[in-house]
Amino acid sequence: MSARDQVAAIYQQVLQRNAGEPEFHQAAAEVFESLHVVLERYPHYADGGLVERLCEPERQIIFRVPWVDDTGAVQVNRGFRVQYNSVLGPYKGGLRFHPSVNLGIVKFLGFEQIFKNALSGLPIGGGKGGSDFDPKGRSDAEVMRFCQSFMTELHRHIGEYTDVPAGDIGVGGREIGYLFGQYKRLTNSYESGVLTGKGLNWGGSQVRKEATGYGAAYFVAEMLKTVKSSLDGKTVVVSGSGNVAIYAIEKIHQLGGIVVACSDSSGYIVDPKGIDLELLKDIKESRRARICEYVETATHATFTSGGSIWDVACDVAIPAATQNELDEDAAITLVKGGVVVVAEGANMPTTPEAVQVFRDAGVAFAPGKAANAGGVATSALEMQQNASRDSWSFEYTDDRLARIMTGIHGRVVETAEDYGMPGDYVHGANIAGFVKVADAMISLGVI
Ligand code: NDP
Repeated sequence: MSARDQVAAIYQQVLQRNAGEPEFHQAAAEVFESLHVVLERYPHYADGGLVERLCEPERQIIFRVPWVDDTGAVQVNRGFRVQYNSVLGPYKGGLRFHPSVNLGIVKFLGFEQIFKNALSGLPIGGGKGGSDFDPKGRSDAEVMRFCQSFMTELHRHIGEYTDVPAGDIGVGGREIGYLFGQYKRLTNSYESGVLTGKGLNWGGSQVRKEATGYGAAYFVAEMLKTVKSSLDGKTVVVSGSGNVAIYAIEKIHQLGGIVVACSDSSGYIVDPKGIDLELLKDIKESRRARICEYVETATHATFTSGGSIWDVACDVAIPAATQNELDEDAAITLVKGGVVVVAEGANMPTTPEAVQVFRDAGVAFAPGKAANAGGVATSALEMQQNASRDSWSFEYTDDRLARIMTGIHGRVVETAEDYGMPGDYVHGANIAGFVKVADAMISLGVI
């Protein structure tokens, strides 16, 4: 059987075994697209059910999360933790609290996380978790009670050497605090290394909050360097206005780019002078308010309810909100508007059809498993600091992050060239990540 046929047969098994999980199918298809070239060169990777084992999580935990809301009513949510692959280190990956969360979404995120974490060059395996709980509109006390109930079950399954969750959509510093507090109470142990994204005065790392966004900006700067360009003076559009988006905007501004638009799920704002970051942080971080409030203060800016942020012409686009937010039509519009670089700040925000549009148009396109790996990489740095009871300065940690992103960029570019696909970041990232995990799986035997 040819390598292509082998990969197609395994993909069919994945579809059958994981029915009704379209996001997981999409994430698997994206990796499988690159696999046959590896199997052609190194047929032994098809032995020992290696690819089949890689597609099957080591463990999937689903649990009830009952909690009492402010009116005294009992609410019931569903919690998930998918411990996908631990050959390179403890499972590592965030928790997402959003009403759309289901097992398929957690599996897609966990699967991507395996390769992202491998690419980071750090000793971390892949996992992901979350709940269909919606923190929006909930009081602090409700969020705390939910987090405490969630951790009451989750604590049995995690640990500094087992599984180390962090934040993702809907899970920021506040939620990590409540989760860590409950873990500490249940275990009677100050095990800092069990969660990352902690506050700076209780075991957190400098730059962790900023890391995913900063890392994406560093990655874009590296991509531009390959065409002897830089972010200086570039017009940039960043979707979302959460953790990743805010700090991508901050670093892009520091590197000389001008971010003219960002969004939330209600619509997008355009500020031709460049997004006023202090104002955005006040609205989104301090007050947890809606993005339309931006134009009440910055009256020269505009707010569009609904619509597509990708209608805003730019040199660089960074989708940093959620999966499948940038579709084929949006990609065509961006290409017409002159986009030269697209880097995924979010996980799988670009549909496969949109990726093809960018490929056909010669737009440099970086997948999330490379471009947004700065967050998890800095989480691994937080684990290092916790293990050594040390804390590093902002400048030192930021420098480590910048060097990690340069390293990931280099590995991806070299791998793509080595396999005869220069400039293809998708294949470069998939292959480099896969080979690292596959080699470790072979060394550890059939487990
Ligand atoms: P946040 O919850 O901080 O922010 C998410 C942002 O995206 C908000 O502006 C939110 O708007 C918007 N958004 C979420 N869902 C939708 C939707 N269905 N439609 C439109 N807009 C939406 O999350 P993060 O910034 O942490 O995460 C953003 C992305 O980055 C996710 O894909 C995540 O997996 C990925 N990522 C995050 C990392 C991290 O360190 N936090 C690390 C690597 C990847 P609203 O508030 O209106 O819902």
